[in-house]
Amino acid sequence: MKKNLIFAGAGHAHIHSLSNLHEFVRAGASVTVVNKSRYHYYSGMGPGLLSGYYSLDETRFDIKKIVESHGCRFIEAEVKQIFPHEKRIFLSDNTALNYDLISFNTGSES
Ligand SMILES: Cc1cc2nc3c(=O)[nH]c(=O)nc-3n(C[C@H](O)[C@H](O)[C@H](O)COP(=O)(O)OP(=O)(O)OC[C@H]3O[C@@H](n4cnc5c(N)ncnc54)[C@H](O)[C@@H]3O)c2cc1C
Repeated sequence: MKKNLIFAGAGHAHIHSLSNLHEFVRAGASVTVVNKSRYHYYSGMGPGLLSGYYSLDETRFDIKKIVESHGCRFIEAEVKQIFPHEKRIFLSDNTALNYDLISFNTGSES
């Protein structure tokens, strides 16, 4: 039976793994990525965007497109609660997901 692998948050630290999701699929995992937005913005290009050097599309990753191009599932939602003993997370759309393995990269807020 396939293992359920979840990437919670598609931040800078997950981008490399998300670009290589086919490796996890090939290893027999069923992969789901949950992120607040379908886009992730490369912060280093933020000042260039504001200065008009880059367009919006040049500064962001289309996470949904990347994930689905590897045959994996993308869910646009926020991870709200984690129940590690049950290996289950609850999302802002009131759904729950079970996992065998989970990796978190939800960044920080100021
Ligand atoms: C203008 C600017 C320039 C910068 N320049 C540099 C630089 O030159 N060098 C450098 O090292 N650092 C730089 N930084 C800092 C750098 O951007 C951060 O350290 C880095 O983005 C943190 O990456 P992260 O992977 O922890 O999370 P993030 O990249 O912040 O990603 C978190 C992701 O998780 C999602 N998310 C959050 N909460 C949830 C949730 N509950 N459920 C689901 N998804 C969620 C968010 O939508 C986001 O997509 C800069 C920052 C800014 C603002």
